[in-house]
Amino acid sequence: MNTDLQNYSHKRLNILTGEWVLVSPHRAKRPWQGQNEEASNEARPSHDEGCYLCAGNTRINGEQNPKYKDVFVFTNDFAALQKDSTPFTSKDGLLEARGEQGICKVICFSPDHSKSLADMLPSEIEKVVFAWQKEYKSLGTMKGVNYVQIFENKGAVMGCSNPHPHGQIWSQSSLPNEVEKKDTQQQKYFKQNTSSLLGDYLSQELKKQERIIFENESFVVLVPFWAIWPFETMIAPKKAQKDILELSSLEITLFAEAIAVLTKAYDKLFNCSFPYSSGIHQAPTNGQSNTHWHWHMSFYPPLLRSATVKKFMVGYEMFAMPQRDITPEQAANTLKLKI
Ligand SMILES: [Zn+2]
Repeated sequence: MNTDLQNYSHKRLNILTGEWVLVSPHRAKRPWQGQNEEASNEARPSHDEGCYLCAGNTRINGEQNPKYKDVFVFTNDFAALQKDSTPFTSKDGLLEARGEQGICKVICFSPDHSKSLADMLPSEIEKVVFAWQKEYKSLGTMKGVNYVQIFENKGAVMGCSNPHPHGQIWSQSSLPNEVEKKDTQQQKYFKQNTSSLLGDYLSQELKKQERIIFENESFVVLVPFWAIWPFETMIAPKKAQKDILELSSLEITLFAEAIAVLTKAYDKLFNCSFPYSSGIHQAPTNGQSNTHWHWHMSFYPPLLRSATVKKFMVGYEMFAMPQRDITPEQAANTLKLKI
């Protein structure tokens, strides 16, 4: 291992976005006198009459949820994007805007209000993956939908308003900023090397074994070399696949296993239901071959050193660039011990 990376301030390149992160390993021991979050470890009931996502309950718009048994998907009652908004371009000098159409859906992972992905069996998580595939395919083939973003906000600290296990699927007409950056970087690399950028990166990581926290036959779970969040991780297929529709049934089982192992390790890290935002970046649904794409799922958790101490992206991060104290290698070693 390069010891300079553990002792001296430096910046690391995120090859997928082309952006840099500042790493300050020497600062990891400084005392914390800032804000502590409330740790919420209270037990929740399996069914909550007041929850608009529980089976059989009525949502705010008056619709009743079916008495679903595993996964339930519905169109968001308060969607950020409108399906039928008029496409338009507005340019008035330097004031430029474009109409953006889309559909936003909510996916309940389980009818059990008390659970999270970390409490679910891999066989139950497989059903979530099936639903992601189904939505990516059906939304992606709709006219005017060029990208489908699957994500989850877990925990009040991530702004999640309902503790019921659920995620979201937003589809839209243009590529969002983060996806655009990754599209550009992967395309550039593929043109030069005719191989997958992320695939070649994973091969190097598998040889080094410095940031890998778990692997099975088809998937790698690691703390990326360029991770921004203290315990940021990525689940990626070893074989280059442009989207989750390329998963075989065995690979779906192995993907579900990787999600189960990682989310359980997260909960053990600070003995709490570990908050995070997770999301899958995959090929746009713009009708192009997109052979340069290698899909992956990222987890961005905000907790820094306990269930109550959160990392803030303020000051320098807002005005300059992301910065972290504990190194990705230290984070990987800590997480590995929880598996
Ligand atoms: Zn509920």
